[in-house]
Amino acid sequence: VLKRTYDNQVCSIAGALELIGERWSLLILRDVFLGIHRFDDLQRGLGIARNVLRDRLNLLVDEGVLERRAYQERPQRFEYHLTAKGNDLWPVLHSIMAWGDKHAQPPGGAPTIVEHRDCGGRVDGRGVCERCGDLAGLADIKARPGPGAVPGHPLLRAAGLRSSS
Ligand SMILES: [Zn+2]
Repeated sequence: VLKRTYDNQVCSIAGALELIGERWSLLILRDVFLGIHRFDDLQRGLGIARNVLRDRLNLLVDEGVLERRAYQERPQRFEYHLTAKGNDLWPVLHSIMAWGDKHAQPPGGAPTIVEHRDCGGRVDGRGVCERCGDLAGLADIKARPGPGAVPGHPLLRAAGLRSSS
């Protein structure tokens, strides 16, 4: 049962934080956005306790941010994918990433670079391509590891998972 932490707040930010404001929730969504979909892969990469991951995933599924898709029947196993509601969080995550690049960046530089598929230009935190000026939404972008990426970066983990399957 979801305990409503901000019950006395009539505010859409408070409402959103009820769904995505718990510790780990945004990092789980980041990993799903970057291509990690299975419980064990999420768990290993994040180093999160299994019960906590299960709780967060259940909440995000119950709230329609993620959906389960079976990828194996016996025993039945699921992948977690973003719904349309979940995909709408991309600009939020990208803005947080851009803010982190500016104000909380690791010493090696940006860990993740978001690029416009069409022209290869870098897409800024507002979703604007710095090369062609187009607005680049989730379907128009690709992410690659940046200079600050270290082993364990979700994009590197996702690539490793793809090559091993
Ligand atoms: Zn562009």
